[in-house]
Amino acid sequence: MGTTTISSITCPTCGHTRQEEMPTDAWQFYYECKNCQAVLRPLDGDCCVFCSYADTLCPPKQMEAMSSAEIPTN
Ligand SMILES: [Zn+2]
Repeated sequence: MGTTTISSITCPTCGHTRQEEMPTDAWQFYYECKNCQAVLRPLDGDCCVFCSYADTLCPPKQMEAMSSAEIPTN
């Protein structure tokens, strides 16, 4: 609940942006640009191509961020 599964991923090679649905139960390591066919891979330290190249974190990361945000401060 509360996670976004649609993300706009931008190809670093040609700048083409496309909306893609992210898998909620797996990390996507490869993404082929539909415009220039470049194959993207996650940057160092990122778990998937969406965390590296899209405007939205992948669902597992979103859940991680939400659960840490829910920790009470007192
Ligand atoms: Zn491209």
